[in-house]
Amino acid sequence: TDDYQKLSMFFKSGIYRLQGSNAVFMDPVRVLNLSYSHFRVSPSSYYSRFFEPNPSGEEHSRVSKNQRKRKRKQKKPPALNEREQAAEERHQKAKPFLMKAHELLLGANDLLLNLGKLRSDDDSPTSDCEQSMVESDEHSFVELGSVWQAPLFEISLYPHKDYKPTQDEKRNTPAFGSLIANNNMANCDMEAGFLNRQYIIPKQSSFYMSDLKQIHGLIPVKRDCGYNLIVVDPPWENSSAYQKLKYPTLPNRYFLSLPIKKLAHEDGALLALWVTNKEKLRVKADGSLIGELDLFHHRPYECLVLGYCYPEVEDSDYFSKLKSIPDGQVLISIPGDYSRKPPVGEMLREYIPGSHPARCLELFAREMVSGWTSWGNEPLRFQDSRYFSRT
Ligand code: SAM
Repeated sequence: TDDYQKLSMFFKSGIYRLQGSNAVFMDPVRVLNLSYSHFRVSPSSYYSRFFEPNPSGEEHSRVSKNQRKRKRKQKKPPALNEREQAAEERHQKAKPFLMKAHELLLGANDLLLNLGKLRSDDDSPTSDCEQSMVESDEHSFVELGSVWQAPLFEISLYPHKDYKPTQDEKRNTPAFGSLIANNNMANCDMEAGFLNRQYIIPKQSSFYMSDLKQIHGLIPVKRDCGYNLIVVDPPWENSSAYQKLKYPTLPNRYFLSLPIKKLAHEDGALLALWVTNKEKLRVKADGSLIGELDLFHHRPYECLVLGYCYPEVEDSDYFSKLKSIPDGQVLISIPGDYSRKPPVGEMLREYIPGSHPARCLELFAREMVSGWTSWGNEPLRFQDSRYFSRT
């Protein structure tokens, strides 16, 4: 049947289109796994905040108590300043799309029945995941990149045992401030060794690890080596102390100086910018909402703003070749830890200008994806082998 086909497509692609709407449900682990030949992302380490269904209904009562508390606090609504009013307007615009998408999710019974199982590692063929390692064992690239020795740290890439490396691929490379690529001909993942830890480098991917001050090193010499899709998730400054512990933030005006035009391909680029609200829209494994949608300082969803960087010389039918992007699309996903964003490349593919396969770039990345270049001060963060199992 149709439903069965949709579900089996979902298991392959990680994407489930909710009937008759601009909404999709995404399982980021399944999408990311398309990047690997010999490894798999471990669902239980990705979804460390997965909400288990709670038959006792305890969760419900806890939430409603919170809600009561919040209601009490909210009795006297504070006057909104200009910015808050604009945010409120945006929220009111987004709300019907979110409500509709959520309603459709609740109607997708076949998908809901499988939601609770997405966290299980059971379907991994073998499981030599290094999850017993505690988090403190991981390297802090942000710290290592900021010490005076940073230019001296080296990383070595070693290919899969079935693949014979070329002289070039065997070399050790400075870990910070250089573009390191896995474009081995066998289309296989590679492993990288850095200060006695192992990192998994997806097939056809590259990374450039540096501070924003050195981002110019990423600018391609030739414009035809620029990028057709640029996704940016900046470390927006906000007042949440919780957020400050997870990664360093930057004053928002710094993001105006990102060299987007210089990074864009000469055929133009689609830009996608994450505009962060503080909390994600939390949905439990049975599809029900956790918390309210309307809390002013905890808008439980995030916006992805899209725009184009047009080429300097446009041919006359440039715009007619671009597919127009529908507004108000909703992506429902399972949040990973540390405000990790779902991989949106596949959903944007049809709107990317230029020839295919598109050259894709993520700025402020913490993970790598096949076909992408990841830049930031910790693009290897979630490539640590503890997040993977070998197939
Ligand atoms: N999109 C990522 C994800 O889903 O995992 C999250 C990106 S997070 C919002 C922002 C990232 O920017 C963090 O990894 C942080 O360390 C990095 N960052 C902060 N200050 C930076 C700087 N000065 N230069 C480069 N990266 C920086």
